[in-house]
Amino acid sequence: MPVTGLDPYDDQNIFARILRGEIPNRTVYEDEFALAFHDIAPQAPVHVLVIPKGPYVSAVDFAARAPDGEIAGFWRAVGRVAGILGLEQEGYRLLSNHGIHAGQEVPHFHVHVFGGGPLGRMIQAA
Ligand code: AMP
Repeated sequence: MPVTGLDPYDDQNIFARILRGEIPNRTVYEDEFALAFHDIAPQAPVHVLVIPKGPYVSAVDFAARAPDGEIAGFWRAVGRVAGILGLEQEGYRLLSNHGIHAGQEVPHFHVHVFGGGPLGRMIQAA
């Protein structure tokens, strides 16, 4: 069910459960600020999710509430993930869905990292 832009943080969401080790994941990278793992239903040759370790619903919630160090650490982790995946030369796309119109499914802030081939135009409206 799509997440509304105003939902409070739900610590039973699937990414919170992955962070607690209750559900397995295919980890690409982990540090004190972030966990990166392969998306279970990839939509590009490379499709990885990067999530902060703290409880934030969306990108804007993260920007509003996270301490500066967590924000810096998270975005540095995103850059490291792109490097680990070998995407820096040919490029990649970062995307974060927020709320109903964006079709956000998981109410824990995450950045999709797409790459591994040409990604086409930015969006295709449903
Ligand atoms: P969003 O629509 O932006 O909320 O994206 C949620 C993403 O999480 C989707 O691309 C799903 O395929 C992915 N996803 C859901 N459950 C899992 C899981 N257990 N492991 C990895 N990816 C998942």
